[in-house]
Formats: sequence, structure tokens, C-alpha cells
Amino acid sequence: MKIYIVRVGDVETSVLEPIRREVAKTFNVNCELIDEAISIPMEAYDRVRRQFLSEILLSKVLNLAMKMEKETGEVCIVLGVTGVDIYARGMNFIFGEAQCPGKSALISLFRLRPEFYGEEPNKDLLIDRAIKEAIHELGHALGLRHCKNPLCVMFFSLHIGMTDRKTRRFCEKCAVKVRHIIGL
Ligand SMILES: [Zn+2]
Ligand SMILES: [Zn+2]
Repeated sequence: MKIYIVRVGDVETSVLEPIRREVAKTFNVNCELIDEAISIPMEAYDRVRRQFLSEILLSKVLNLAMKMEKETGEVCIVLGVTGVDIYARGMNFIFGEAQCPGKSALISLFRLRPEFYGEEPNKDLLIDRAIKEAIHELGHALGLRHCKNPLCVMFFSLHIGMTDRKTRRFCEKCAVKVRHIIGL
């Protein structure tokens, strides 16, 4: 299995490389950045909410995942990283979304930036949050559901405080599932 990371719209590359490294380490797989970005589908934009409907962005990521599988002949998951604010029906916003299980995952940096909460920009904090959300969504893509352990990366974050509280690691129960799925 191989994991790819792709930009969906404009995203600073300096955030992607640390995510790539941590994803490769966590899942013990090859993880590569894709040079070419996916352009943001404007039909996903809701003018009233001023947000983008996540499932439309996610479907673009899935298209790319299927293309990569065809080209490489290898099972893969693609993680999209976007800078825009995303939502799902019935939710004010989401940090990310994934097929569960599936080949596509997506995270948004929009609400992971300290500036969003009126704080000073902090690249390390942004990267730490992005890594947690990336591993969380990739966990879903592998078939994992939410975990009740608030320190586990599969804990569901309703707000940024919950993201900051949880770790970037799978709890023992979730780690067993991941190992079983990846075949480690
Ligand atoms: Zn989740
Ligand atoms: Zn867990």
C-alpha cells in the first residue's frame, strides 16, 4: 500500500513535508507528495456559508486515487490537504473527512491555524494539529471508527481544544486494528 498527499488549492509546501514524514512513520508505508495540485471545484462553494462542501472536494481526491492506482498497479490512499474552510451537511464545519473505509481522505488547515482563533501564527502548532487530523482521517480510510479514548488520534474533535488534547498516536486498541489492516 502507498499513501499520497496532494494539495487541494493553495497550500504551503512547508506544512506538507512534516505531514508526509509522520504519516510514513506512523503507518510504516511509502508516502509521497504529488507535485500537481487539485484545483478547488467552485461548485463546492456555498456563498451564504462562505464554506466549501467537503464531499465534492473529497470526490476529486478519490478520482485522483483511482487514477494513481491504475497507473501504479498498487493499492493506494490519497490524502488531500486544503486551505479552505470545509463543511458537511448538518455540521457547522469539519476539520476533515474520509471514506471509511476507502481510498480518499481530506483535511483542511483553515481552522487549525492559531490565527483563526485570534492567536499569533505558530507554524509548529499548525503542523502538529495537521499531523493529528491527517492521521485521524487516514485511520478512517483504513476503516477505523471513532475511539472513546480522548488521547487517541481517532478521538472525534468537535473543537480545536480536543485536537490539541489528543495525541498523534493510536491507542493500543486502535493500533492493533491498524496493524491488522496494514498487515504489519
Ligand atoms: Zn473522524
Ligand atoms: Zn483509539
